[in-house]
Amino acid sequence: MGGTQPEAGTGSEVDVDERWMRHAFDLTDHAQQAFDEIPVGAVLVGAEGQLLGEGWNRNIVDHDPAAHAEIVAMREAGRRLGNHRLVGATLYVSLEPCAMCAMALVHARVARVVYGAADPKTGACGSVFDLLTDPRHNHRVDVRGGVLGEEAGRRLSNYFRVKRGRPLL
Ligand SMILES: [Zn+2]
Repeated sequence: MGGTQPEAGTGSEVDVDERWMRHAFDLTDHAQQAFDEIPVGAVLVGAEGQLLGEGWNRNIVDHDPAAHAEIVAMREAGRRLGNHRLVGATLYVSLEPCAMCAMALVHARVARVVYGAADPKTGACGSVFDLLTDPRHNHRVDVRGGVLGEEAGRRLSNYFRVKRGRPLL
């Protein structure tokens, strides 16, 4: 774990985004320990601050190429709300969403995405593609990246380092 980042200043206020990101990190631990999936976690939170859905990568266990953490969380939220539109919701995810997930977020009319680590290989929220703010879409999503980003990146790196027998960062 580790993850001591003094950037929050005095610590007198807990950043709401960081609090939900920590919740997403808990899901990454679950994905890794229970399923040996790539540890990505996502939490969907409603406009009133209520938890709507949780997800972690389930590609391997579900034999499902679309079962990214974000999709799993949105499916749970949709079932819970009885609605395929998730208007006003915020998605917290430990890794920058890919193109598939970004488009699903646009389709769902999610209001905001907060991610941890940027993904320079497939990130679609500004790194490789910028699908959430593209004016050609009929809906745009606010983006905040890099929330607890250093810890998010280290967690992912350590997953692969363990696989390769390398020491943890
Ligand atoms: Zn994805």
